[in-house]
Amino acid sequence: MMETIVVEHLIHTFGERRALDGLSFTVGEGEVFALLGPNGAGKTTTVRLLNGLYRATAGRLRVLGLDPATQGEQVRAQTGVLTESPALYERLTARQNLRFFGEMAGMPAGELRRRMEELLEFFDLTGRADERVSVFSKGMKQRLALARALLNRPKILFLDEPTAGLDPEASRQVRELIAALRRENGQAVFLCTHILLEAERLCDRVLILNQGRALAVGSLEELQQRFNPGVWVEVQLLEPRALSAADLPQALQVQAQDALLRVQVSRTEDIPALVNRLVGLGAPILRVEPLRPSLEDIYFALQAQAEGGQP
Ligand code: ATP
Repeated sequence: MMETIVVEHLIHTFGERRALDGLSFTVGEGEVFALLGPNGAGKTTTVRLLNGLYRATAGRLRVLGLDPATQGEQVRAQTGVLTESPALYERLTARQNLRFFGEMAGMPAGELRRRMEELLEFFDLTGRADERVSVFSKGMKQRLALARALLNRPKILFLDEPTAGLDPEASRQVRELIAALRRENGQAVFLCTHILLEAERLCDRVLILNQGRALAVGSLEELQQRFNPGVWVEVQLLEPRALSAADLPQALQVQAQDALLRVQVSRTEDIPALVNRLVGLGAPILRVEPLRPSLEDIYFALQAQAEGGQP
């Protein structure tokens, strides 16, 4: 796969403060990649560097084969950026906003007209397109800002906290639109978020960032395998049985609630022996299901480790 973004040993300092401290990663063509981290981790700084708005203190950056520090304009002509607060003119209508930004980007009039109508339709704004943005809800503004970011058919779409400040309904809508965009256009998406669910739902790969350093990079599946702190298995019994870890040699921990047992074992391979043991004890098993750790489990385990100063 061709790499769309290459970042090697990126360092960025603001005065004394190191916002990025040796960050490396790559994003492939058409990939949806998330930078996941708490406030101040360095997400926005990374997006600005990748779009040539800041110049890196040290390290190597390539976006679509270009150096954003010296070829920023060429990079920005092929990227779309959605920032945390939508950059729109409140006193202009939705259509006027899109026309203005399209003209600024040098789009030919006919192409701009077609593209605007297509995007207004896609983002369900056609019926409100001639109203001023000042009367729009936050969700509508965010949809319009997404349309704006997509005007130039970007090869990479940068989304910095795309659902910040939206209510759950509007957030879900924006997430669904991002997922749909990806199916329809196939551009790479670079998502910055501190919302784990967002990364879990939308992304192929995730980088977990803390104080300008990568704690882990990989697909959710890879991270689950690498950081699995023991596998939890859910065992549904027909009726409650008094069972404890002492009864089950494979178990690290046992939690029981009525007829539902949650047993932690070290590895997936221990599950058959656990089931045999339960059968041997006469436990009336209805269902056995290994539980995968969520991205949230992995994220908090890694952030806690980083705060504790361990590698
Ligand atoms: P948030 O979600 O809060 O926006 P972030 O992950 O995007 O966080 P950045 O905005 O990239 O984080 O900031 C990283 C670090 O760099 C922070 O410690 C921040 O205070 C600092 N920083 C960012 N921009 C500047 C600036 N222009 N001048 C000085 N320090 C800055």
